[in-house]
Amino acid sequence: MLSAMSTPEKGILIVSLDLELYWGVRDIARLDESRDKLLAARAAVPRLLDLFTRHEIHATWATVGMLFFHSKEDLLRCVPRTLPRYARRKLSPYEDLETLGANETQDPFHFAYSLVQAIASTPRQEIGTHTFSHYYCLEDGQDVDTFRADLNAGVSAASRLGIGIESLVFPRNQVNEGYLQACAEAGIRVYRGNNAGWMHARRQRRKESQPWRGLRLLDCYLNLSGHNTYDPREITGRVPMELPSSRYLRMNPRWLGPLEPLRMRRLRYEMQHAARHGRVYHLWFHPEDIGADADRNYSFLEKVFEGFADLREEGAMESLNMQEFFHRFEKVKSRSPFCPALKSHPSRQLGQNYPRIALISPG
Ligand SMILES: [Zn+2]
Repeated sequence: MLSAMSTPEKGILIVSLDLELYWGVRDIARLDESRDKLLAARAAVPRLLDLFTRHEIHATWATVGMLFFHSKEDLLRCVPRTLPRYARRKLSPYEDLETLGANETQDPFHFAYSLVQAIASTPRQEIGTHTFSHYYCLEDGQDVDTFRADLNAGVSAASRLGIGIESLVFPRNQVNEGYLQACAEAGIRVYRGNNAGWMHARRQRRKESQPWRGLRLLDCYLNLSGHNTYDPREITGRVPMELPSSRYLRMNPRWLGPLEPLRMRRLRYEMQHAARHGRVYHLWFHPEDIGADADRNYSFLEKVFEGFADLREEGAMESLNMQEFFHRFEKVKSRSPFCPALKSHPSRQLGQNYPRIALISPG
């Protein structure tokens, strides 16, 4: 722990998005019912890039590796040799591969080469991984070896486009602590963790009950779970670094419209709390969330980022993507004489990139 660091001067806004298209929902929704939503998600990407550019938002786009390809032929060549054998067979995408269209034009639901290029060429945007196949790390029937093969395939899919991957978002936020060493070996330096609050403990999807979901919905409007910000000094020195989320920026249906001012107030209050106390506020969402009812959702997001821009102009807050946060944080640690975990960091002494021992025993 970095308990002796001085209080950071500014709050930090982190924004991360999960870009997955049909790979992220194929087990729970039929393609013919999802087409409009997925097309709207695609259309949301350039609009989000424009919004981020105008408000100078630095964001991490955790992207499913299969989306990096522009053709089926290309994708099939890069499938990992070892595949998960989920107890719930529906979770595995590999049996559907033959049904894919030939390329992104014919099958915009499974390929997103052009979107990846657009994100990569927009300033301040980072491309991270959401694993190769939208891999479920807490499900039965898979293990660390199949995870490792999947993650490496995701990193390779990006590197073929000249994109280096350092950030990971676990699909369905199924963080598996036992897999962190494999992550480090694949070059992952930071991952999005779950909100540590009592209300947000992550379970396998089928174990999530309605009352918990209802409480989380209520917490979007009323302060049930606190400010959802955290002190960067609480983050341990291990690699990959865990960067917990603060809030899933859910976009609500129109019938909840009258409550939107309450929700905006709650978000702004949390952001102000981060700004006043030098804390981190980490928002995440999917382009799919924005695409449906796009104009209304954009204007909501615009207001969130205007609130951030006011704090930035006051000098109270800044925006960093996950990768930037990691490198900033490392720099702070390396200046600190009070961080024995880092001073004796094996990677520094030996010039290796990823420590093996520090991974599973946080300093
Ligand atoms: Zn996902």
